[in-house]
Amino acid sequence: MRPEKELLFDQMKQQRALPVTEHTFDLYQSYYDCIDKRNEDDWANYLFYVGECYFRIGNLRKSLNLLTRCLGAPKSKDLEYLNVYCYNIIGLINVYAGNETIALNYMLQCQTISEDLHLRSELISSYINQGIIYNELGDCENARANLGTAYEQLNGLDRDFDLLYVLCESCRGVLLSQTEHARAAHEIYQKLQHFLAQRRQPFFTLCLSYLGVHLHGYLADDAFLADHVAKLLSLPAHEDFLLFSRYYYACCSYLIDQGLGSYASQLLQKIAPEVRRSTLFFLKKDYLLLLARYTRAYDAQNYAAVCCRLAELHPSYEEEQHCITRYSLAYVELLRQTKIDSDHFQEQSQLDQMTGLLNKYTIQFLIEEDLAKDHADRHAALLLVDLDHFKQINDTLGHLIGDEFICQTAKIIQKYFGDTALCGRVGGDEFLVYISDVADVSLISLQAEMLLQEIERQTAQKHSSINACASLGIAFSSEMYHNYTRLFAAADRALYDAKTSGRNKLVIAE
Ligand code: GH3
Ligand code: MG
Repeated sequence: MRPEKELLFDQMKQQRALPVTEHTFDLYQSYYDCIDKRNEDDWANYLFYVGECYFRIGNLRKSLNLLTRCLGAPKSKDLEYLNVYCYNIIGLINVYAGNETIALNYMLQCQTISEDLHLRSELISSYINQGIIYNELGDCENARANLGTAYEQLNGLDRDFDLLYVLCESCRGVLLSQTEHARAAHEIYQKLQHFLAQRRQPFFTLCLSYLGVHLHGYLADDAFLADHVAKLLSLPAHEDFLLFSRYYYACCSYLIDQGLGSYASQLLQKIAPEVRRSTLFFLKKDYLLLLARYTRAYDAQNYAAVCCRLAELHPSYEEEQHCITRYSLAYVELLRQTKIDSDHFQEQSQLDQMTGLLNKYTIQFLIEEDLAKDHADRHAALLLVDLDHFKQINDTLGHLIGDEFICQTAKIIQKYFGDTALCGRVGGDEFLVYISDVADVSLISLQAEMLLQEIERQTAQKHSSINACASLGIAFSSEMYHNYTRLFAAADRALYDAKTSGRNKLVIAE
């Protein structure tokens, strides 16, 4: 890394924990300006950091665009953790957009890769996120299982994990309070309150109050509730409203359900300006849904107007949701394409580039694999074909014509044996044909004979001036010749005999 790039990269890393300002994007621009765009890792880093920043300021489309590209971008093994981060954020975006099942898939990917890469905090947060999503889908059992796993994994970890601990415990507490385990939820609250006595951060206060509000049904303590609502009202929610919104909405919803309209109304007023400021339609929609429930219960004369606003907003909300779904589909398409490319690549790397026959290593591997199978009473045949005096052809007609001969021979071999045998090119002008189960030995000899004639005939047709032909050695597997090396050596000896006894003929190994 060049020093300047290194410096900027460190700043970008630090920026993740700092508020986003108008200068933040200048930083990314400077990084962009000084990286080599052909360096895959630099490029993947750029896509991730900017993508994450857009997520933080609530520009979800831009964020999705960059993070999806980061996921698809080639990167070194050291940078694979970026994929986990991307999956995590894309998952969260889908949670916000109400695509919970898609989100769950992304979180599962997070879990799997974090396990592979031993990324502890990412693994734990994937469990927490899955817990939250399952809860939103109404599947309390899976929600509890995932949050429980997260809790177990958090036990005994240091301060770096404080945030995950608080998040996990507040969610677990709320879940328990909703599923008739309120006493356990209250115990969690007390532990959490104790834990947070020395740690003051808006997000921690939010989590504790979120749980505190949800305990009202169990504690029925008005002062306790009033205290937590007051804390929620006093939090500086503006900067992180996207992150905070879930908790506010959940508290509001709970208060409306509990018939505590005045508290609900105060929270609704607190979040109204943030919602207005936001460009995100799903934040607006969820807010209006809450407002509709509130007005229906407490402010009936405004209920119809709120419903109208909801109906007006609906097309924009749907468009936003579709856009997010489209990114998920685009990503699936990307994965599919990547798979096709890599299959194609793998296929390519097994073939001899010039002739399209199997290459030496692949055919050897396949033959060894086949010979290792049970062979009670079958015979395999290995044929070696080598062009005669091929050097002369190169010397007199040139290498290009030489290449043409090689390809032409490959085609003829393919024509005679392609359907029933493995065909490969194992040397410059040497080919191998392997028949796994020979039904009739004399038929193979006949086919081989015809192959040699066809090579001679086609060459004569094209270049009457030369007399190009080939020699062929055949070996059949037996108890003695039952591995590749031996079978090949036997065929090679037979080929040698064919060469030394006049060429343009076949010899069968004894
Ligand atoms: P023999 O009858 O004994 O087989 O003699 P030969 O001239 O065919 O000699 P040999 O099989 O030992 O050597 C094959 C020659 O093929 C050597 C090399 O110059 C040439 N050759 C190897 N690979 C290629 C290739 O990809 N293209 C061309 N045009 N020639 C090749
Ligand atoms: Mg040769």
